Amino acid sequence: MIIAANLKTNLTRKQTRLYVNELETYIKQNNIKQDILVFPATSSLDIHSGKVVLGAQNAYPTQNGAFTGEIGLDQLEEFLIKTVLIGHSERRHVLGESQDELVKKFNYYKDLGFKIIYCVGEPLEKREAGKEEMMKYIASQYEGIDTSYENLIIAYEPVWAIGTGLTPTLEDIELIHTDLKEKSHAPLLYGGSVKVTNAKEVLELKNVDGILVGSAALYSEHFCTMIQFAQDISQ
Ligand code: PEP
Repeated sequence: MIIAANLKTNLTRKQTRLYVNELETYIKQNNIKQDILVFPATSSLDIHSGKVVLGAQNAYPTQNGAFTGEIGLDQLEEFLIKTVLIGHSERRHVLGESQDELVKKFNYYKDLGFKIIYCVGEPLEKREAGKEEMMKYIASQYEGIDTSYENLIIAYEPVWAIGTGLTPTLEDIELIHTDLKEKSHAPLLYGGSVKVTNAKEVLELKNVDGILVGSAALYSEHFCTMIQFAQDISQ
């Protein structure tokens, strides 16, 4: 299974190093075999060797250049980063990234062989508009994306569930994941208010290959508990 932590704009460089070291200790002591990904803030990216793979929360589709506030391939290569999150709902809905821009990023990093965690998910009004409308919206987020890319992981994250404490029912998650698996055979993670109290039930669902965790992953003990759930379920 794939257990991923999106640290967003949290933790300093020093705190992130400590956090990742705590995960490594747990992974080693408990012989964890799952894939663990951590997306720290850009300023906390670093060379890291161990079981935890560090990825960028965002990157511009360029080697370098005049793109104020962005980072490109040169900055990722400095820290041997080969994993990138593309299309997170905060990039789409807070920072206004369009599908066209995301496709450019996707293609650029795909051509470089990066592991891409590509996020999709509907806002509340699309969910409330009914299943057909909602699935149409999610389908539009697959436009221009090579869904058979070998290093692709998809994360289904309903926008209204991110950071709100709200989640779809387990039944809903399973149904949507089953539909989305028809669009791509890539591993499919669920994200949106996953925490210690619901992670196990989510991980047990059919067509859920892992979880992408935001707020609850900020506590290394909580994140390690979720890693352990995945390990126990996989055995
Ligand atoms: C996320 O940011 O990808 C996320 C799922 O956040 P949270 O777990 O806080 O809802």
